[in-house]
Amino acid sequence: MAIPAPDHRTTHPPIVAATNVTKVYTRGSGPGRFGRLLGRSEPPTVEAVSDVSLTIQPGEIVGLAGPSGSGKSTLLHLLAGLEVPTEGSVQFQQTDIASYSTRRRTRLRLEEIGIVFQRFHLVDSLSARANVALPLVELGVGRRKRRERATEMLDRVGLGDRLGHKPGELSGGEQQRVAIARALVTDPALVVADEPTGELDTETGEQILAEFRRVATERTVVLASHDRETLAIADRIVRLHDGTIVEQGDE
Ligand code: ADP
Ligand code: MG
Repeated sequence: MAIPAPDHRTTHPPIVAATNVTKVYTRGSGPGRFGRLLGRSEPPTVEAVSDVSLTIQPGEIVGLAGPSGSGKSTLLHLLAGLEVPTEGSVQFQQTDIASYSTRRRTRLRLEEIGIVFQRFHLVDSLSARANVALPLVELGVGRRKRRERATEMLDRVGLGDRLGHKPGELSGGEQQRVAIARALVTDPALVVADEPTGELDTETGEQILAEFRRVATERTVVLASHDRETLAIADRIVRLHDGTIVEQGDE
């Protein structure tokens, strides 16, 4: 790179880095009877991410762009430790996440990584506050502290008056704000969001983006989207096609 890197890039180690990461999925469990009749012995596989290297610095908002099926969600899941690479490595705060046990990786994810999904992934039977408190339940935080913290987070996303509402009693935008509050409740260093505005109308989507901008003043955000307006909040765009990076913007 010819342009000298800004200071924060050189003085801080990356928060998360992927090095030559490949993720291969197996479709189905085997060739099946029909496959065997056709003489197939191996289940078909798909290389969702191919030899991707990417470094994310603290404080950045990085947008993962690319058409449907280009590997955005897979890369996001790899960066968030939801999946482990087939080849290559993902280092979270300079430690290879594959070196962790499943249990430690889960804990790391709960403590340091907040995840927001397109379809909110809230538990229908629980109140907004109980949904937000879920990661704290898993971390063994006491009930009183959980309620306090979840209330604070819901206040912060403008839902202080919706604590007892269940997801079914909330609008799509409100549900996504609950999901954002849940992603932030453990005060994670990294927040990843997969098509966070994908289910929302334009105006609600804009409110959610404003929320992410606020989030990003305090932490690192990686968001996958094929929506231009969503990607516009990113400092840097990484564009995928067929599982490989075809363009990596530099702020
Ligand atoms: P995007 O988010 O950009 O739409 P994905 O990461 O979801 O892309 O998918 C990339 C490729 O990997 C696609 O061909 C998709 O069908 C495949 N894929 C994704 N997840 C799985 C999975 N769990 N099992 C099998 N194939 C998968
Ligand atoms: Mg996707």
